[in-house]
Amino acid sequence: MKGNTLTEFELIKRYFTHPAPGARLGVGDDAALVRAARGMEIAVSADMLVCGTHFFADAEPGQLGHKALAVNLSDMAAMGATPRWATLSLALPRVAPHWLRAFSGGFMKLARKHGVDLVGGDTTRGPLNICVQIMGEVPAGQALRRDGARIGDEVWVSGQIGDAALALVALGKRIRLKPLELAAVTRRLHQPTPRVALGVALRKIAHCAIDISDGLCADLGHICERSGVAVTVNFDRLPISPVLRRYLDRPVARAALLAGGDDYELCFTAAPVRHQVILNVARRLGLALACVGSVQRAGRGKPQLTVLAGNGARMDVTSGGFDHFG
Ligand code: ADP
Ligand code: MG
Repeated sequence: MKGNTLTEFELIKRYFTHPAPGARLGVGDDAALVRAARGMEIAVSADMLVCGTHFFADAEPGQLGHKALAVNLSDMAAMGATPRWATLSLALPRVAPHWLRAFSGGFMKLARKHGVDLVGGDTTRGPLNICVQIMGEVPAGQALRRDGARIGDEVWVSGQIGDAALALVALGKRIRLKPLELAAVTRRLHQPTPRVALGVALRKIAHCAIDISDGLCADLGHICERSGVAVTVNFDRLPISPVLRRYLDRPVARAALLAGGDDYELCFTAAPVRHQVILNVARRLGLALACVGSVQRAGRGKPQLTVLAGNGARMDVTSGGFDHFG
């Protein structure tokens, strides 16, 4: 925070300097030093949360700290990488100790849970903006890329999807939920659970993976595009919560399921012979994995993504996912 060096120094020391046992050198120097284990590649990714775009100004800081790291852990999960080190770059409108304590508490609690070291970052004055960069390790050649889907693969989705977007719709008063229902789905929006253990378990099993951050249709579209394939999904097989099921006759709820994002579940493809192995992974992790569709050859004039209703009719998915620039 230029012009306020002491405050910046104190702030970093108090809230963002923690032991970094997995790094050679952590916070406090001009750069951190990290070393990948032999045979490992380093997966690097960054995700920014901007006030007004990704969260409300009055967002609870502990949840914000959690989410800022969670969305990055989700990218590691989607690559099949084990998250190891993170940096945190913050623009803060003011130095508010209670906010910083809660924010760093939420961030560090999740970091410790996943054995991630906060090794550096930057702190400056400005409109509230949180940028986390994350680094993880994955055995060379085993990363789960978007371009690996093969014709004949089954398409899988973890956990349940659509709740986070349903919460957004409800907070925007476009649908009315009962208080307990709202509380349940809002938790999914503010405190997503990154599927890190699943990503690691899927190495050498899945052909490709993506985390559902922009919405199922948009993210499956990325897989189709990058892998040069088409995908068919059965609407009735999509894994949803009892709350979402109760409102599924409403177009906004169906849109939340197909095109809403922010769930941070994993979508992946694997050969049908792996079906039972994947169900075993689900049992071992205590995480539901649903087989929701299949991968086909792409064809000229053929839609990349087809969603079939229970009666076999094609559903309209032109609404796509959430596009920041749309
Ligand atoms: P420099 O003067 O080299 O830009 P800074 O004063 O910005 O260094 O930061 C000092 C140290 O604190 C560095 O090691 C930096 O990585 C770390 N740091 C700064 N802000 C944060 C933050 N929000 N979270 C974690 N580490 C931070
Ligand atoms: Mg700096």
